[in-house]
Amino acid sequence: MIIYGSRASHLKSIHSNTAICLGCSTKGSVTFGVYSRYAHVFWIPLFPIGRIGFSECQYCKHTLRVKEMPAELAREYNQLKSETRTPIWQFIGLGLILVFLSWIALMTNVDRKKERAYVAQPQVGDVYYIKTENNHYSTLKVMDVSQDSVHVLPNEYTTNKKSGVHKINKMENYGQFNYGFSKDDLRIAYHDGTIYTINRK
Ligand SMILES: [Zn+2]
Repeated sequence: MIIYGSRASHLKSIHSNTAICLGCSTKGSVTFGVYSRYAHVFWIPLFPIGRIGFSECQYCKHTLRVKEMPAELAREYNQLKSETRTPIWQFIGLGLILVFLSWIALMTNVDRKKERAYVAQPQVGDVYYIKTENNHYSTLKVMDVSQDSVHVLPNEYTTNKKSGVHKINKMENYGQFNYGFSKDDLRIAYHDGTIYTINRK
């Protein structure tokens, strides 16, 4: 269960000496308050949503929301609101998400870099994760590498789910007959995505 919603945190309040209460007509009894609303997930603030505000008479407790305020009160409220800033902690969730996404991007980049090196210098034991012609997934295991070609043992199984490929990558699933292709073809297959991941132990 994901617990999420929005909350408000108090930013600033001010007592007005000039505002007149609509409820009891007392002058100088009104206090304005500004709050910042923010979305949260599991009580971690995600990002701010906007401001809400009230006016309250300290004398008769008459309260007004911003859109109920007459022009003079709204002006005082807006003045106060313009003096407030959204606290930085309300962006924590968004910041964490950005850090996480950058980390994924960085790791992906590191993996791609490694794989490009594996393509340039194939080794016996490398496993190529491939997309088959009918959009299934399977693997090839490198058995031999020569000056300009690579010999692989094809997996006899395929799967229609990318996430299931590692399950069929077992030694007993590989056949007996290997075949070869040039290192140029290996490069092409990697760059066009036919080989989409390379594993090296
Ligand atoms: Zn009042």
